Amino acid sequence: MDIFRDPAKRAEWVYGQKMSPCPKCGSYDMFPQMPIVINRDGDEAPENVVSRWAKLTASGEAVLQGPCYYMCRSCLHNGPAVNCAGRSAEEARKDPELNREMKRLWNSQ
Ligand SMILES: [Zn+2]
Repeated sequence: MDIFRDPAKRAEWVYGQKMSPCPKCGSYDMFPQMPIVINRDGDEAPENVVSRWAKLTASGEAVLQGPCYYMCRSCLHNGPAVNCAGRSAEEARKDPELNREMKRLWNSQ
């Protein structure tokens, strides 16, 4: 049996547990989102924002804006968020408790 033909099974394999489909569109193509703070200094040139994002991410100094949640990539529906304002993005990404909670919230909506 090829589990990759079944989106529900594939999501279960990717996330290590059963995942609920998107309540809006029924897709299993969900993805964790952890937006980081980028101090723009009034400089909105896209290439500068991108390079600042890359520098912050590489240096391990990226700080989360706050909401961490699963997003549906098919319809862009956001699941309920965990507030992680001020936490380091690197630390949050490695936090299994946070990841479990984000998945629990997605499945509870
Ligand atoms: Zn959706």
